[in-house]
Amino acid sequence: MNKQIDLGYRPETYFRPQKLERYLLSKVKGAVVRKKLQALFDSGRHAELSTLLTVEGISAADRKVLESLHPMFMGGNYLPDTEDGEVEIGRISIKSTTYDVTCVYARPDGGAIHYRVVDEYGGETLQGATEARTAKPMTLGEFADFFITAWPLIAVLEMNFEDDVEGALGFFSADSDFYPDLDRLCRQRVRDHFPTPDAGDECPFCGRFNSPPADDLCEHAAAWVWDGQIEALGTGQAFAAAIQELGETIGSAEHSTTAELILEKLAGQNPVRARLIDAASDGLEEALSLVENAQAGDGWSTKGMLGGSGYTVCVPDSAALDVLASECRALVRACALEIQTADTRQVTLEALRPSQRPDWQLVASGFWEEDTYHSGHIAYYIASIGPGKWLLDGVERNAMLDGVTQEDVDEGRLNDDQIQAMWGMRLEEAQSSEHRQICAACSGASEELLAKEMAEILYRAVCEGGGKEITEPDDSAGLLEL
Ligand SMILES: [Zn+2]
Ligand SMILES: [Zn+2]
Repeated sequence: MNKQIDLGYRPETYFRPQKLERYLLSKVKGAVVRKKLQALFDSGRHAELSTLLTVEGISAADRKVLESLHPMFMGGNYLPDTEDGEVEIGRISIKSTTYDVTCVYARPDGGAIHYRVVDEYGGETLQGATEARTAKPMTLGEFADFFITAWPLIAVLEMNFEDDVEGALGFFSADSDFYPDLDRLCRQRVRDHFPTPDAGDECPFCGRFNSPPADDLCEHAAAWVWDGQIEALGTGQAFAAAIQELGETIGSAEHSTTAELILEKLAGQNPVRARLIDAASDGLEEALSLVENAQAGDGWSTKGMLGGSGYTVCVPDSAALDVLASECRALVRACALEIQTADTRQVTLEALRPSQRPDWQLVASGFWEEDTYHSGHIAYYIASIGPGKWLLDGVERNAMLDGVTQEDVDEGRLNDDQIQAMWGMRLEEAQSSEHRQICAACSGASEELLAKEMAEILYRAVCEGGGKEITEPDDSAGLLEL
């Protein structure tokens, strides 16, 4: 039984004169009924058989009785009828609840042979080319390809059994009066396609045979790649989750200047992070290549029509994965900081101003201008008021009085705006009067972000929120160079 399947085997004809019983048998569509009748035929009980058979197959009444006994008697009864001169040359039955049957019918067609694949659903389970025409009968290989491409056996089995090859093999049977090896060939195709349970490769570090499908792995196996799809294993799983979360954060950071800035700042300080951020957008395989000395196993493959290949990815030290995973999580956390700005929220943030004057550092100062009538001078200051907590203070003074001297005041050379700016004050007092407002506050900032970086993040947030943007910076030495 172990002889090689001859894919080139070609039956002489599909249309040889058949014994009447065999011909009639080929007209019986119900799979179970047909098997029983076939058994009668094989055991030589031909007289009994011919009384059971009519040219129409099983009578309608008998069919109803059989179907009421068990749905498996339904198998094949909803196939389209064969036309004149058409014979069934092969069928595949599956043990679905309704015992579905799919067949190939052939008929002589102007000196050639015309084939059609038929199912019990008016062709709904078929795809691609469901008809063919050849001069000579197809070889076994051609026939099997035509049949299980039009009716996608492997896909049907995969849908029902994923990688359970034994379950898949038990689910179908193929029969053909013309191709005795059809069933064996279909089985071989299925075996070749499904990953065999011992598929795997050797760990480059400890030499153990890793078998991801069997979940039999050494401590170095972090992932496996199958048909271009990567899946995390064992120690790689926490890392994969962290990388995925970082990837999602990066995806949403594309809509947030703040998050983009934070990632840029944190990456700028750390080349590993910069590469992690790149890799997180590309996926796990790219990210794993960041682990020093990570190596792929020598790989394995399955043959067959829909075969595939795979390999494991091993890392010498799982601690390296943990380090990278915590870098990912730090980046994700850093992007999750919460910023409030006075302008966007229509609320004052003054309540956040600490009673003890914090150590304000100048961020930048200069003139802002909304339009010709709204302009002024502002200086932004930043201070940390606790772990991860920062405030951005805006100090405004009236620039109307810049360059005004007491002499100008005394000689009445002030315009209306300048007079208003001095209202009730002496010149010196008015020139040094300030208006302070907390413009932005944040909590949850990464402690790695220093005043300079936080200054940029908060200042940008203020500008984006419609706050005062310095358009004409002073020469003062602030944290930001605008
Ligand atoms: Zn035709
Ligand atoms: Zn190993």
